[in-house]
Amino acid sequence: MKITRREFSRLVALGASAQFLCGIPTLAEDRTIGYCVVGLGRISMQHFMPAVKTSKKSRITALVSGHREKAERMAAEYGLPSRSIYNYQTYDEIAKNPDVDAVYVALPNSMHAEYTTRAARAGKHVLCEKPMATSVEDARAMIQACESANKKLMIAYRCQYEPAHLRAIELIREGKLGSIQSIESAFGFPIAPNEWRLDKKLAGGGPLMDVGIYCLNASRYLSVEEPGELVGFSSVIDQDGRFTQVEETLSWTMKFPKGTLANCTCSYGSSMPGYFRVRGSKGALLMEPAFNYDNLHLSGQLAGGEKIEISPDEPDPMQFLREADYMADCILQNREPKTSGQEGLRDMELMSEIYRSCQKNIA
Ligand code: NAD
Repeated sequence: MKITRREFSRLVALGASAQFLCGIPTLAEDRTIGYCVVGLGRISMQHFMPAVKTSKKSRITALVSGHREKAERMAAEYGLPSRSIYNYQTYDEIAKNPDVDAVYVALPNSMHAEYTTRAARAGKHVLCEKPMATSVEDARAMIQACESANKKLMIAYRCQYEPAHLRAIELIREGKLGSIQSIESAFGFPIAPNEWRLDKKLAGGGPLMDVGIYCLNASRYLSVEEPGELVGFSSVIDQDGRFTQVEETLSWTMKFPKGTLANCTCSYGSSMPGYFRVRGSKGALLMEPAFNYDNLHLSGQLAGGEKIEISPDEPDPMQFLREADYMADCILQNREPKTSGQEGLRDMELMSEIYRSCQKNIA
């Protein structure tokens, strides 16, 4: 078939508007976000990277590791050239790599601040693992660095993108539980000796920083309020050499402005499958497991006697895919992430307050 130049122009115009009307992705939406993974440990290699491998919006484009052999192996698996492997000294050279849009910081907690700040200076967006940092000052500096560079900073609170958690939040906001009286939450595991998590310099604290943060963050998004008052206690029971720098178990209670009371416990001395329970004047919800990578289960009874049972069919690493792609959307659409640096900072401020209260309650 022969078409005239005029017909051709009309078809091009039609195609463009049809694309617009039908929501077919435009070039910008078609673009994928390239992640540079900083730290090749358990969370990055076993969860984040396999998730991104399945993504249509995100891809792994560079690696930062102190172990060249491991990095070469992962680079081969992800089809990356050797020039896209950096170490902690050459990290800043990612500035010159146009395939890197964002970095995923998956290092021990106290290193998050430095590698976020250096990424921002290199002109890259940051998705940083929780806890955001090991001090409030570091968290503020990270926000400042990303703001100055006009780059996004998202904290990897994967539960805030997970459907069962989102449904629980929605039910509470719709008033299906009535007034929220109490929240209980716990998370813990018996830690092996010689983990960096037991080294205060690297971890910033004990189970509160690592697993208690899930209970804290959940209490805040479930109550949809910020706690007004809090009191905490910590203890070390097993004198076996693991807990010379950080607490073994920590419990705290928070009172929210409308009166909701939250009781949370975290531990490195006991296996505590992560859960939360919300009790309202007209109903209650229980999510258990709540913080695992998959097989989550939300159950409850709502106002009027309605029962709910929700078990999303989302095998691991789906939560990480949601998180990576959400960040990619924020970058592509120039939106502020829901779990921004400010959200991470709020948890850092509260964890500092919890530790201060534990110190006061040592007597
Ligand atoms: P990991 O020990 O498995 O990995 C840490 C990585 O950092 C390793 O590659 C290690 O080589 C590297 N590293 C660089 N300098 C180091 C040093 N001085 N000491 C120790 N390691 C060093 O740890 P992980 O479990 O992958 O945790 C990494 C981060 O991810 C932590 O901040 C943790 O809180 C967070 N995390 C998040 C989740 C989640 O579900 N979002 C789950 C687990 C861990």
